[in-house]
Amino acid sequence: MKYRGELLRINLTDKNIIREKLKADIFFNYLWGRGYASKLLLDEMNPAVDPLSPENKLIFALGPFAGTPLPATSRMMVVTKGALNGLIASSNVGGYFPFELQHAGYTLIVIEGKADNPVYIWINDETVEIRDASHLWGKTTSEVDALLKDETHPEAKTVEIGPAGEKLSRIAAIIIDAHRAAGRTGVGAVMGSKNLKAIAVRGTRGVSVISSQRLKDYLTKIYERVKKSGGVTMFRTYGTTRTVRAINSIGAFPTHNHRDGFFDEYLLIDGENVNKEILVRNGSCAGCPIACNRISKVYWKGEEYVGGGPEYETLWAFGGQTGISDLHAVTYAHFLANEYGFDGISLGSTIAALMDLFESGIIGEDNLPFPVKFGDAEAMINLIHLAAKREGIGDLIAEGSYELTKHFGHPKFSMSVKKQELPAYDPRGVKGMGLAYATSNRGGCHVRAFTVTEEVYNTDDPEYRLKYDDKALIVKELQDKQAVVDSLGICSFARTIYGVDDFSEMLEVTWDIDLSPEKLLKCGERIWNVERLFNVRAGFTREHDTLPERLFKEAIKTGPSKGEIYDKREFEKLLFEYYRLRGWDENGVPREKKLKELGII
Ligand code: SF4
Repeated sequence: MKYRGELLRINLTDKNIIREKLKADIFFNYLWGRGYASKLLLDEMNPAVDPLSPENKLIFALGPFAGTPLPATSRMMVVTKGALNGLIASSNVGGYFPFELQHAGYTLIVIEGKADNPVYIWINDETVEIRDASHLWGKTTSEVDALLKDETHPEAKTVEIGPAGEKLSRIAAIIIDAHRAAGRTGVGAVMGSKNLKAIAVRGTRGVSVISSQRLKDYLTKIYERVKKSGGVTMFRTYGTTRTVRAINSIGAFPTHNHRDGFFDEYLLIDGENVNKEILVRNGSCAGCPIACNRISKVYWKGEEYVGGGPEYETLWAFGGQTGISDLHAVTYAHFLANEYGFDGISLGSTIAALMDLFESGIIGEDNLPFPVKFGDAEAMINLIHLAAKREGIGDLIAEGSYELTKHFGHPKFSMSVKKQELPAYDPRGVKGMGLAYATSNRGGCHVRAFTVTEEVYNTDDPEYRLKYDDKALIVKELQDKQAVVDSLGICSFARTIYGVDDFSEMLEVTWDIDLSPEKLLKCGERIWNVERLFNVRAGFTREHDTLPERLFKEAIKTGPSKGEIYDKREFEKLLFEYYRLRGWDENGVPREKKLKELGII
């Protein structure tokens, strides 16, 4: 085996910097990226710690293919105990930073402790420095990116937090290269709690994979697939933006804080209109021929703004969920989320919850600086500015929808699972997503088990999405597979070119590592159980594995899923079956037998 990975451990309290070799017994059982980092977190940290305390660790973790010529394999996971809900958090991101980090020689960075004053870390191949960042504090993410390039190296790649992370907003993101977000679970607040404003990296050491004819042949095969794949063409042409049309057409596009599942004005925020109205050009993550990123130009109040995005999720969160169809306003909100360092999904959905409280008469203008009605783009933009400053109602928005609605005595208006706002697939119209949300190890999340592919795209039965049937098995299998994908650093959108068999072949042709598809999927199951164990030890139980009450009680009002609710009894049956398939007890706790079988204990 040729593989040699290195971990950089940086303690911000005592400024100690240590390099460690990655342990083969960990990566053979938990892989790299999300798996390796989750195992490390469980072994080294008390899951009950306050996520904003120095005892929490913040890990940036790459897969084994980062920095290699294999396309779409340089993604990074940010793993920590999340500030939003106290669950194990892992937030996925691309851009150029991960590629550069691997070329500097590091597969993982583990940040520990807390700096006395704002700092940033400068990694220049072997040289690693902790530097003063007081001049960066208060700056937006693109300002930080530009300043760090000036003072380190013009080719440096960066991760940073904006004002949201500094002010410990529980929905703060970590931004990569100024416009890619490790968005979910409040990882930005964890970084802010450590007084760590940014990391800049310059890597020139290269990645010495096996240089063999087999690797060359494999690359030829993959690039042929890229050329022929209809999915790749779709991603390159529209990014994720055309999903608006696809999901609205089945009536599973949540609107007005999930009051409905169909948005009349969807064409205004759909991919076709994005391309026609605001798209400047495509962008890509390092070495990715799919190039699904969007660079757009919009106008707001007569000013021109250019930035990365939008994505499907933000077109929904700042669009359908808030009832806003002004594409320029929606995209500008996406830009602002990146500049201030917020998670777009949580921010948009929290504003939607506030609008819902207002329109329901629960709060009035005495609670607010201005009326906040659904569809009011100007109110949304102003609320984002207030949230970044944590000023007035903005202070509550920065806490996320659960804390905001609880403050006003109506937490059921928060469309969240385990306090994390649900993404843009209404489970009333795609039943598998309900179980996927309820059982996700990081709270409401669509990427841990994206059942939409099986329930909508890969079936001839148009009613399959509305059946409960075998969805427990589908969710379990997708969760295990996704844990593998994330732990190998592979982009989820590369599902159009790679399968699990490919992952085994890729490990062999790059590093001479023998891990069969069966072993990889077993690793996925092991990772899922380690994460669950962390959450159980952090105090989470079956009662947290549920959905917002609205989805059980209020039917979708219009569109192709009209009349659909999420049947509570069916949900309970699915959850029971899911626990059984997982080998967990009736409270959702992994049984000793299962943990022993997986070698976790
Ligand atoms: S498919 Fe898109 S998000 Fe994924 S690595 Fe390529 S450019 Fe990045």
